[in-house]
Amino acid sequence: MDQGPVPALRRWLDGPRFLPLPARDAAVPAPRLSFEFFPPATEVLEAQLWACIRRLEPLRPRFVSVTYGAGGSTQARTHATVSRIARETTLVPAAHLTCVGATRAEVNEVARQYWQDGVRHIVALRGDPPKGTPFAPHADGYAYAADLVAGLARIAPFDITVAAYPETHPQAESPEADLDNLKRKLDAGATRAITQLFFDTATYLRFLDRCLAAGITAPIVPGIMPVSNFAAAARFCAACGASLPDWLSDAFAGTENDPELRRMVGAIVAAEQVRVLQANGVDEFHFYTLNRPDLTYAIAHILGVRGGDSTQG
Ligand SMILES: Cc1cc2nc3c(=O)[nH]c(=O)nc-3n(C[C@H](O)[C@H](O)[C@H](O)COP(=O)(O)OP(=O)(O)OC[C@H]3O[C@@H](n4cnc5c(N)ncnc54)[C@H](O)[C@@H]3O)c2cc1C
Repeated sequence: MDQGPVPALRRWLDGPRFLPLPARDAAVPAPRLSFEFFPPATEVLEAQLWACIRRLEPLRPRFVSVTYGAGGSTQARTHATVSRIARETTLVPAAHLTCVGATRAEVNEVARQYWQDGVRHIVALRGDPPKGTPFAPHADGYAYAADLVAGLARIAPFDITVAAYPETHPQAESPEADLDNLKRKLDAGATRAITQLFFDTATYLRFLDRCLAAGITAPIVPGIMPVSNFAAAARFCAACGASLPDWLSDAFAGTENDPELRRMVGAIVAAEQVRVLQANGVDEFHFYTLNRPDLTYAIAHILGVRGGDSTQG
């Protein structure tokens, strides 16, 4: 008798087993989601954003946030988008606000305006200087996000979210100093952090361990970027100091001229990422949508977050 396949089969049967991914359980609520959009610069992009918002709205996210362009360059557009979301949708908007290139008085004025418009949630950030220049705080400005958080808390009882870096912010003196900074931001009045994008779940889970060891107990919500354009994601990772794992480059290699394949690979990669996090107990996710709803919608569906018609049948 040919014994050839038996050792292989035995290895498969006797080898290490992984826990199954969680099944949908009526007793366990679906995870809570939030979505990030960027303010559109043209009418075409505006239409794309609003199609995206309308598609994702039935998923009832906890909040949706709108970014603030580098150097505060989109102040008016961010404001307009946030206000329209507040006026015309059932969604809770959160406005990103940065310190860079503005005085404290100017930043405070923007925050007061938001409060007057009924916007209660701010994502408070230092922001980045224009490309190629080192960061230097404005002479009369907030130097760091922790100062901005403290300033916002003095203006009104905003719900404040801050940024966290599982791989350490590139300008931090050390990983420990960066973690101290995160703690300062939370101690100054922030209620949660959203992470910079990451692709290796172990990186995030180890970061959570470090946060807990540092006495941080606020939610550190994973920031998930479903990749539909690998080249753009690679550029983004390079700009913000996030690692681009070899397995990810390998997964997308050869998809350059095949958008359909690329989308499927992107969906599978992100679905696997969130399901492994979910299996590890994570029940809140923030999606960098890049104003495109499809991957986020599909991944939300897989996580058990259903809206409108999808819950039927
Ligand atoms: C979820 C998320 C959303 C974002 N949205 C936007 C956006 O809308 N617009 C935008 O322009 N950018 C955005 N960014 C990018 C962010 O502005 C940059 O990463 C920026 O470089 C740091 O911002 P921060 O709020 O984390 O800064 P901070 O928390 O102030 O930290 C910046 C750096 O300074 C160090 N540091 C802090 N305090 C001190 C101190 N007292 N002494 C010495 N070093 C110190 C920190 O360790 C860190 O290295 C976002 C990032 C994330 C993760």
